[in-house]
Amino acid sequence: MRYFTALIIILIITLYGQEKQDKETMAKKVTKSESEWATCLMPDEYRVLREKGTEMAFTGKYFNHKDDGTYICAACDYELFSSNTKYDSGTGWPSFYAALDKDRVLEKTDNALGMIRTEILCARCESHLGHLFPDGPRPSGLRYCVNSISLDFKKAE
Ligand SMILES: [Zn+2]
Repeated sequence: MRYFTALIIILIITLYGQEKQDKETMAKKVTKSESEWATCLMPDEYRVLREKGTEMAFTGKYFNHKDDGTYICAACDYELFSSNTKYDSGTGWPSFYAALDKDRVLEKTDNALGMIRTEILCARCESHLGHLFPDGPRPSGLRYCVNSISLDFKKAE
């Protein structure tokens, strides 16, 4: 009987360990309710990241920012864009011709304002970043037009 109990305990520990490992190898999704987001973001951040607002052009902290480093999601810290792909689009919003990795940015059709546009979202927490336009420079021909307020910056060491 004691042997049997020990066997059950070993089985439970093994299963628990396996589940933990699975969770660690997957790109973990960050999911919060809107009221949780409202408490952990500043009102201006919430309006853009969770309500898909757009900051005024030429007002954000990163449209003219030229340091070397990585731009991360302001809501969940996921690494999204490298300064290597940032360029001056003249639009007044931070613009990139590529994401750090295509899987890091979700694309969704957006029919708001009577236009068909492609919305871009952080793949980890599904917060709104901005829009994707097909008028970027070579080699991609893409312009990831991102709100500064949706981003934070990690300077390269
Ligand atoms: Zn995120």
